[in-house]
This record gives sequence, C-alpha cells and structure tokens, in this order.
Amino acid sequence: MKTAILSVGTELLFGQIVNTNTVYLSQQLNLLGHDVMYHYTVGDNPKRLADMIELALEDCDIVLTTGGLGPTQDDMTKEIACQVMGDELVMMDDVMEELLAMFKDTGRKMTENNKKQAIMPSRAVVFHNDAGTAPGFALEKDGKYIICMPGPPREMTRMFEKSVKPFLESLSDDVIYYRMIRTFGIGESQLETELLDLIDVQTDPTLATYAKEGESSVRIASKRATLEEAKAAVDDMLEKVRERIGDYIYSCDDEELVQVVCNKLIDRGLTLSSAESCTGGLFAGTVTAIAGVSACFDRGLVTYSNQAKMDELGVKAETLEKYGAVSAETAMEMAEGLHRVSGSDVCVSVTGIAGPGGGSAEKPVGLVYVGLYYDGEVSYRELRLRNTGRKWIRHRSVLNMLDMINKCL
Ligand code: ATP
Repeated sequence: MKTAILSVGTELLFGQIVNTNTVYLSQQLNLLGHDVMYHYTVGDNPKRLADMIELALEDCDIVLTTGGLGPTQDDMTKEIACQVMGDELVMMDDVMEELLAMFKDTGRKMTENNKKQAIMPSRAVVFHNDAGTAPGFALEKDGKYIICMPGPPREMTRMFEKSVKPFLESLSDDVIYYRMIRTFGIGESQLETELLDLIDVQTDPTLATYAKEGESSVRIASKRATLEEAKAAVDDMLEKVRERIGDYIYSCDDEELVQVVCNKLIDRGLTLSSAESCTGGLFAGTVTAIAGVSACFDRGLVTYSNQAKMDELGVKAETLEKYGAVSAETAMEMAEGLHRVSGSDVCVSVTGIAGPGGGSAEKPVGLVYVGLYYDGEVSYRELRLRNTGRKWIRHRSVLNMLDMINKCL
C-alpha cells in the first residue's frame, strides 16, 4: 500500500528536535511491505495541517501522523483529522474510564483539558497509549486511512508495536516474511552487480540492497497468502543469493558482526583478547557493548606508543626499528605477545595510520595492519583504507578485526 508519514510540530520545523519518528516509521513500514511515498512535516497550524492531510491522501492509501495529540491548545491533529475525514467528535466513555483509572493509579490530578483526550472521532478505532495519556486512532474514509499517533517517541513506538502494526496487518490478506542478509567486504555496487539478474526479474520475493557504514545488506522479502509460502519463497531465494555472495555473508538474520563473533566464541568456549594501537580501545569498546561478553572477553590493551608495545606485548625493538610500528611484522608480534601475556585462545591486534597526519608516500594514511593469533598460528591482514577521515578509518579497522576473527572461526 502507498503510505505517507506526516510529522506535526512547529519545533520540528525550527530544528529544535530531530525527527526520529519518521526514521522509525519508515523502517517499520518498509518491513511490513508498505511503499513509503512521502515524508511531510507541518507546524501546529490548522489550515496547513488540513491541506497536508488532503494532499497526502490524494496519492496514498494511508497517512500516518505523529504529534499534536496532546491536551493543550496547540494540539489539533485529532480535530483536523476528524474534519478532513468527514467525521464528528464524540465523548468515548470507555476511553474516559481508562484515563480516569490512569490518573488515579499514578496519583496525578486530572485537569479539565485532559478530558479532551477522551473525545474521539465517532468512527475511530482507538489505540491505547500505555506510556502517556493521549490515545491514538485510525479513521477510514472511502477506503483510505489516517492513523494518528502521539509525538513522544516512547509513546509512539510502543503504540505502533502493540496496536498500529496489527491494525496495518489486518488491512491486508497477505503475510510478509523477510530476511536481512548482512555482508562484509563487498560494496553495495558490487553486491548489486552480483545479484543484478535476480534483482531485475524480481516480483516476489523482492531483493533490495542497502549500504551502512562499511557494510552492505540484502533484504529478501515475500508477500504470500500464508507464512509458510512466504518463508519457502524467501529461503529459496536465499540459497541463490548464497551461491553468488556466500563468502561475504556473516548473518542471515540481521545480526551485527560483533554479535556474530561473540556468539561463536561463547558457543565454542573460546576466549578473546585485543591489543590496539590506532583504534585506541574502540575494538574493546565495541565488543564489551555486547551483553554477556564476559563469557569470552578477557582483556583489551591499548598499546599506543612503541614503548607500550614493547613493555606490554614484548614486541622487539629491532622489529619496530626495521619494519616500523605500522607493519605486518609488528601487528603479528603484538598478537603473539598478547597470547603470551593473556593466554587467550584468540588474540587480535591492530596498528595503523588513522590520520589526518602521519602518513608518507610509502605508508599513507589508511594503511592498517590487523594481526591475529589463533590455534598456534599468527596471520595478518593489510588494509589500504581510503582516507575519508580518522573516525571512518578506525571504524573500518574494527570491522576488519571482527571479520578476520569471524573468518578464522
Ligand atoms: P503529548 O501528549 O506529550 O502532548 P503529542 O502527541 O501532543 O503528545 P507533541 O506535543 O506534538 O506530541 O510532541 C511532544 C514531544 O514529542 C515533542 O516535544 C518531542 O520531544 C517529541 N516528538 C514529537 N514529534 C517528534 C518526531 N517526529 N520525532 C521525534 N520526537 C518527536
């Protein structure tokens, strides 16, 4: 179905808040198989709001609004939606009872303007707000719908999950099933080239590629009469995708690379340690952001200076002198030394030039070496990353450390 998202709130136009609701809703609606055609934003102005709803419904089957449902004077989404959809506002006793109960439970005094929140369009399907007071609703006219939700993201996302999503699903007889395939080491354009013939002839399942900070994903989705049919179609397509790009896939269920790596280590009862130079602890930070990682992560050392590499990891002075701190030899001695001091099963190291300064013709910014000790063997990976900024180089280095561990496991 063709869908539009309409954000209501003058503070959005002033740039005082970031419109995260639209990002969330776009992602969710896409997953549900809706075609999001437009994002609109309008201030708290009745005429412009009415015009926007009318405009959105000209071309779309559904418009979802967020904001302007509260009890104050400038909250007018409900009134305008009701007017545009040709309905009238009525007091809904059950909504009022819920509101009274909510105020009683929380010990808050119900002000006069709060009663306004129990007045709803007469034909509305009302959505309970379990994180705030303003209820949401859906209203139909001539086969088109407006769905209004509160502005605060916590209220909106809960309402979407619990009420709006099932409501949207009930509008269609078909079931959507999708899988998000995550890859590393292949760019979006190459990914698309590898899958082009499959993408070109797609009707169902559909294939779409996405790029995100150094990684690319493929979404395979199918809309069928039953979940079984949709699943079978997606899994069949997944096999074809795997034949083409299997080497790059690290998850078929939308997991982060770091999660995949940690799961593998924990499942196999292996321990992990890291020694970082140019990433200064970013790897350890990324790994320890995963809950339950104490089951595999032993230690993360930041050995930034040559002295630290020698003191903490036993990297030889001759190695640093002959090959330099940014070299395959140093990265491997770091990983080997880390195994000596930690005894961890998997030891990963990194040394590189994150820039913006410090590069040379021979060793440019973006040259990074990742070292890995595993099962008595030490290996390395040389990266020649594009000089698109220190942050990016450090991020890519961490992804490569994770990828190298993932591949060796
Ligand atoms: P309330 O019951 O809190 O009055 P409401 O439906 O009237 O809810 P608004 O008053 O329009 O919502 O917005 C309340 C707050 O929600 C805003 O101040 C802002 O913090 C947040 N908010 C509103 N719209 C968005 C949006 N599109 N993205 C992110 N946050 C938003």
